[in-house]
Amino acid sequence: MGKIKLAIDTYLVGIGVSPGIAIGKVNLIDQRPLVDQSLIAISEVDAEISRFQKAVDRGREQLQKIKKTVSKQPHLREHLYILDTHLLILEDEMLVEGTKKEIRAQVNAEGALTRVLEQLRALFDNIDDEYLRERRSDVDAVGDRLLRILSGVSERNIGNIGSKSLVVAHDLSPAETMQMDRSNVLGFITDKGGRTSHTAILARSLDIPAVVGLESVTSMVADEMPVIIDGSSGVVILKPSEETLKEYQERKQSYDYLEQDLEKYRDLPSVTTDQVRVPLRGNLEIASDVIQIKKHAAEGIGLYRTEFLYLGRSEPPDEDEQYQSYCEILKQANGESVTIRTLDIGGDKFVPELNLEDEANPAMGLRAIRFSLHEERLFKVQLRAILRASSCGHVRVLFPMISGVAEIRACKKMISDIQAQLDDEGIPYDPDLAIGIMIETPSAVMISSLLAQEVDFFSVGTNDLIQYFLAVDRGNEHVAYLYDPLHPAILRALKMTCDAADEAGIEVCICGEMAGESLYALVLVGLGFHELSMNPACVPRVKRVLRQVSKHDGEDLVKQLLSLSTSKEVSTIIEQEMRKRLPVLFSQPPI
Ligand code: PEP
Ligand code: MG
Repeated sequence: MGKIKLAIDTYLVGIGVSPGIAIGKVNLIDQRPLVDQSLIAISEVDAEISRFQKAVDRGREQLQKIKKTVSKQPHLREHLYILDTHLLILEDEMLVEGTKKEIRAQVNAEGALTRVLEQLRALFDNIDDEYLRERRSDVDAVGDRLLRILSGVSERNIGNIGSKSLVVAHDLSPAETMQMDRSNVLGFITDKGGRTSHTAILARSLDIPAVVGLESVTSMVADEMPVIIDGSSGVVILKPSEETLKEYQERKQSYDYLEQDLEKYRDLPSVTTDQVRVPLRGNLEIASDVIQIKKHAAEGIGLYRTEFLYLGRSEPPDEDEQYQSYCEILKQANGESVTIRTLDIGGDKFVPELNLEDEANPAMGLRAIRFSLHEERLFKVQLRAILRASSCGHVRVLFPMISGVAEIRACKKMISDIQAQLDDEGIPYDPDLAIGIMIETPSAVMISSLLAQEVDFFSVGTNDLIQYFLAVDRGNEHVAYLYDPLHPAILRALKMTCDAADEAGIEVCICGEMAGESLYALVLVGLGFHELSMNPACVPRVKRVLRQVSKHDGEDLVKQLLSLSTSKEVSTIIEQEMRKRLPVLFSQPPI
């Protein structure tokens, strides 16, 4: 296919998955295999099955070789599980036996595999949850590897990029991303991919600016074309003009300077100028993300989303396995607290293995704590594992999507029953285990003063709170313009929750995405939040803000904001205020 003739300064917007600015020339490494699909004679079936099996064996050898190389690199060791996942996919019955079955229907190996991959993709596409849907990319990566082997296209060797350049590819598998030579790959952009794909997670660990999901960038660029990547905003500029180049060189300089400057704060405490300590904790999804927690010096884990333990397996993890995983995370947390949230599935989070029924209105259906209380046996297994783990470190347990007092009482009853069982069995646990609830439904906000009597802490989940308060589906792009953290209704809800916690003398944290937004840090402290838990990469900026503002000023600002009627007015005041206080962080003009 011929390339489109491009104008100077062609702007594209994808998904910025790893922050930073990279400026350089393209190294196009797209080598998608040409899939030659054809029918075969019945007499050729056995030979074709054996050709396919050889490709599977070769794929396994390739992955094992990469694993060996990668295991020698300490910063990547934590990600070896991705290669193990790919090795497991290579053993998957649906993939391997499914393809052989198609070959028996007289289709050549490439055609048979392509059909099976399409069926698998369709299964993943029907999943609402972004994280789970993107696990499809692991199946794609394995499928591409097999197709490349079958069609004789040599393995792409990203480890050998000779000169400093920007890698452009249709897709990059996690295995390829791991092999990237950091000194020569300035950044990368891809047609495919999403925010939580393994490739994105790896790019962040490697500190390589990256933008994914650009759809057709590979058909727009050629080797040596100058390109700018802004991994923070997701903007990519092809053939930048002198002027744009100059502007981005300056931006890069100030970004790099700011990052270096933030490094100075790494080991300093998160404390306001009027000496209020505000611990900044990390949100954790998969165990290997602990590396990010350490890298950015987050203080322990404020939200461990355990649903990710239940993914991609035919049986839910048993008590011992969960106990081991929790203990391992506690070990890595070095004595800091780890808030383990019980299973939060249903709604936008879907675990196919648990056979949830189809519901007309899943976000308001049998999800989160409702599901756990319904599936008591499963819930007990998790609670026993959490209680046992509480003897290995500082654990807090958190229940998602509580909407009434009866639910939390039911949870507490289960905890005390399990404690009695553990006592009988002589198994240790922390008798003072703190019990908390997510405040993420309007009813929980409205009765926060009642709920505060029942628990040791609140953790506000603004992602859901905003969705339910404003009646705006958090995953629906058509109403995304209404999804607004600064809506006066949200500010009032947050204030009401913090006040209820304050009156009852319990701790109140915030763990939705809003917590990681450095622009809001002063407001959140002014509202009365004691702890913020966020994507670990956001910790340095938020800390930088908090060390330069006072809680007292935050309280004054909140008073002013609560008198405003629209979110536009709210955001204007916050921006003005933060620009005035921290021009280095907030004066960058928007793109
Ligand atoms: C939230 O709703 O804000 C939250 C932190 O939980 P999740 O995003 O996992 O629903
Ligand atoms: Mg939630």
